[in-house]
Amino acid sequence: MASKVPIAVAYGDGIGPEIMSACLHILQEAGAQIEPHVIEIGEKIYLQGYTAGITPEAIQTIRATKVFYKAPITTPQGGGYKSLNVTTRKLFNLFANVRPCVSYHPFIETKYPGLDVVIVRENEEDLYAGIEHRQTPEVYQVLKLVTQPGCERIIRYAFEYARAYGRRKVTCMTKDNIMKLTDGLFHKVFDEIGAEYPEIEKEHWIIDIGTAKLADTPEQFDVVVTLNLYGDILSDMVAQIAGSVGLAGSANIGPSVAMFEAIHGSAPRRAGQNLANPSGLLHAGIMMLVHIGQPEVAERVHNAWLRTIEEGYHTYDIYREGFSRAKVGTKEFAEAVVRNLGKQPETLKAVRYTQEGGPARVLTIPAYTRPKPPKKELIGVDIFVNWTPGHPNELAQKIQAVLPPTLKLTMISNRGTAVWPQTLEETFLVDHWRTRLMSATGAPLSSDVIIQALQAYQKAGLEFIKMENLYLFDGVEGFSKGQGE
Ligand code: NAD
Repeated sequence: MASKVPIAVAYGDGIGPEIMSACLHILQEAGAQIEPHVIEIGEKIYLQGYTAGITPEAIQTIRATKVFYKAPITTPQGGGYKSLNVTTRKLFNLFANVRPCVSYHPFIETKYPGLDVVIVRENEEDLYAGIEHRQTPEVYQVLKLVTQPGCERIIRYAFEYARAYGRRKVTCMTKDNIMKLTDGLFHKVFDEIGAEYPEIEKEHWIIDIGTAKLADTPEQFDVVVTLNLYGDILSDMVAQIAGSVGLAGSANIGPSVAMFEAIHGSAPRRAGQNLANPSGLLHAGIMMLVHIGQPEVAERVHNAWLRTIEEGYHTYDIYREGFSRAKVGTKEFAEAVVRNLGKQPETLKAVRYTQEGGPARVLTIPAYTRPKPPKKELIGVDIFVNWTPGHPNELAQKIQAVLPPTLKLTMISNRGTAVWPQTLEETFLVDHWRTRLMSATGAPLSSDVIIQALQAYQKAGLEFIKMENLYLFDGVEGFSKGQGE
């Protein structure tokens, strides 16, 4: 018999302990060779003063086992608490969040019988970098970070996943008509990497209409790869329209560590009543078994689960009067799955994880190789100032009076809209202004010039709150224009 694989297990909060007990029971009855190392995370740990809800000892256990099976946790309300999920994903470089959503028609009610979509969500970057500031009395900001290595590995992961699991198409969704640099990079990398997978169909949708299409005709989609926030929203939506958020599991994959969890939360109102559906966490457990090289056990569990769903043993969230056989609790559902171990579904398609040439267990993504850096030339600076709304001409005059001769003021914008040299009376103005200074001659600048500009602003009594350098990279502008500039 294979030796047992150590895994870190967290029972979590709310419905977490009930569904984790149910899932571990099923996995062990199915013959999973796992050795759970229980760690404490979540509400209790937050309230002990660990702002990320996890102790250094628990982090060490995850590092040692490299596999983390996690029940949902409750993040206490109020400021100062950081999301445990976001922290875990970033600490362990869990860059890919894989969420398969499938409809189980006619056994679980859904308007979309043909739905079978895998959302591959970038898991570390975008607006989830968690860098937020209040800059002026009226303005708050979050930084959206999108990186070349981040895009490359998630997009390659999506294509490798499609190849390994025999999927025909990968759809990319971004908002690159608006965010031309950040979302634009994601789209560009998708086109470049996609070209290496000629056998896979590729398409790109702008996220708004793409979401509408996905909600309307999900059967036209297969694998969807997208940025962090869009993927977060899309995957809940797709899981819900497949039948219930209680059904879908997710894998958070990194180069050395992987975390497996349900996509839903701790549902505190359902806690302690033996009501919750353990299926989402069970699907995460099935993905974990495939990941740790026990595909035959994964297959046994998955097919027993499909058979149980067909037989009509349903928890309250998927129960239908006159259609389901019995409304069962968490424990009874788990027992029904255990009874079905070794059986196959009769109507739903049985799952195969073991066939010859079947899915690769751990997809390997090549480490990022940093290319030769492009030629970077400083040609200007955006200086942001906190200034009580007045006429933009007044601000322009104050700046022009103090500027070093190497710089010229070319634009002032307010909430991204250019309001100088031209101003529309109708444009609403807040106390946060971007003033764009460019090299007066077009020649590259030294960073001293920026320091001189900041000193000049200070002398003029202007309160600068932030600056962004404007660069050319191999001659291409690395900044966006103001709206209407
Ligand atoms: P939730 O997913 O916990 O619950 C949303 C709804 O879905 C509720 O009506 C609930 O009854 C139902 N539901 C969820 N899981 C179910 C299951 N397994 N069986 C049956 N019904 C189920 O979302 P929420 O109410 O927004 O969040 C509650 C708490 O969970 C919050 O503290 C939140 O921070 C946390 N949360 C944790 C995670 C995680 O740990 N991965 C993810 C999301 C939310």
